[in-house]
Amino acid sequence: MEQTLTGAKHPPHLFILFFTEMWERFSYYGMRALLVLFLTSSALKGGWAWNREDALQLYGTYTGLVYLTPIIGGLIADKLLGYRNAVILGAFIMTLGHASMALETPVFFYLGLGGLIIGNGLFKPNISSIVGQLYVNNPEKKDAAYTIFYMGINSGAFLGILLCGYIGEKVGWSYGFGLAGIFMFFGMMQFAFAQKLFGEIGGRPQKKGINNTVSNVSNGREEEVVPGKVVRDRIIVISVFAFFTIFFWMAFEQAGGSMTIFANDYTDRVLSGSSATIFKWANTILVVVPMIILTFVLLNLFRQTFSKIALSSLFLGSSFVIIWGLVVWMLQREFSAAATEVPASWFGILNSFFIISLAPLFSKVWETKFNPSGPVKFGIGLILVGIGFALLAYGGSSIPQGAKTASVSMVWLIMAYCLHTMGELCISPVGLSYISKLAPPKLVGLMFGIWFLTTAIANYLAGITGSFIDPIIEDYSMATFFLIFTAIPIVAGLVMMSLNKLLKNKMHGIY
Ligand code: GLN
Repeated sequence: MEQTLTGAKHPPHLFILFFTEMWERFSYYGMRALLVLFLTSSALKGGWAWNREDALQLYGTYTGLVYLTPIIGGLIADKLLGYRNAVILGAFIMTLGHASMALETPVFFYLGLGGLIIGNGLFKPNISSIVGQLYVNNPEKKDAAYTIFYMGINSGAFLGILLCGYIGEKVGWSYGFGLAGIFMFFGMMQFAFAQKLFGEIGGRPQKKGINNTVSNVSNGREEEVVPGKVVRDRIIVISVFAFFTIFFWMAFEQAGGSMTIFANDYTDRVLSGSSATIFKWANTILVVVPMIILTFVLLNLFRQTFSKIALSSLFLGSSFVIIWGLVVWMLQREFSAAATEVPASWFGILNSFFIISLAPLFSKVWETKFNPSGPVKFGIGLILVGIGFALLAYGGSSIPQGAKTASVSMVWLIMAYCLHTMGELCISPVGLSYISKLAPPKLVGLMFGIWFLTTAIANYLAGITGSFIDPIIEDYSMATFFLIFTAIPIVAGLVMMSLNKLLKNKMHGIY
């Protein structure tokens, strides 16, 4: 156990998983950032010239299905493959999927999407469970560990959206799609060559009978016997947590839809003179600071494990060298350009940026005596996302009824993203941690699958509710539209808090 950037002691394995997940999310979010843009771009610009509705439908189906397959992938790992094998197989299938998409012919494009959907099902729930298996003997560290892991997720999202987005749009679509595939491959190799570090952790399941009790013999967990009623109660709690995340993600995932429309058409993004210069510098700091932090995390991991898993470290090191090269190239290119308009997609990286900067703080707070119970954290998270939308409603209140464009200050979007991210930190990593603590060991993978299933539902609902933006603006106002996403999560948050005592009882000693 070694010292980490948060000051708490976590095993180096956590950082192997951190970087594996980082490259996978790099690919996922990098590809996702390009998907709709590519489909809707004109043939002249190399796109497929689809209309918005068809493109968004494919986008919605894809993001829904990607979170639907984890339920099968989780089960396969629980019963058959073991978690680590499932992660490697999933990464391999996703690498093929990205490569196939980069060819850009319709057949290979759809085959590629299919590969990503299947691969993610094997990858996502199972890497999430391996994190929990590292803390068999100190489960009280899980909340903090998952928060660190969540930084990996968002570091990947940040760099993926930034670089695949930039290269796809400015250099060529297939280069952007291809870049996503290259880092999926690096992530897979880094994890595959780090296997010997893990020993029993995330291994194949062992066969043992269960009756009215569940014996925890598999997957590196300690042997203990938990009565059936407790198992049932804990599964109920997982279901309640998962159910309430639907309200959270439904509001939060407006980011890719109505909030992007708000950024694109209703926000003043044109900067000139000193504000343009300030933006360029701020953007540089925004990109370089996380890169420096990540490089420190990398060096710290190398210090502990380089000699033991040299090949894995070489893959990881090379991917960092390439990323640094791309970042420097991109920033230089932007400085020499006379750019005065902040791209609408730029606001998308704010979420990941705030996660990276705020996660260490939250992780620290969860380790102090001010660590609220799970249901209270969930309640706070839901209320924060609601307040974020209240700010947008306030910022948008000057927009005349039915207006198609406006020039609201970008401050509202920035503050909303900050609050949404704080909410996300109270819900998402905390949720992962609770699943890993509450799930019966033989069903951890399946329980993570159920957790992500609610994301599938929420993503779909986010799309549907967001698509009402135009009629609501015409009949009521922009503020009314955002107030819907203020009211729903806040009410859900208050209900969640009122269930605190009940849920705590049903967790039977797990906090
Ligand atoms: N941003 C997180 C991720 O990509 C959230 C996933 C989710 O549960 N909705 O992993």
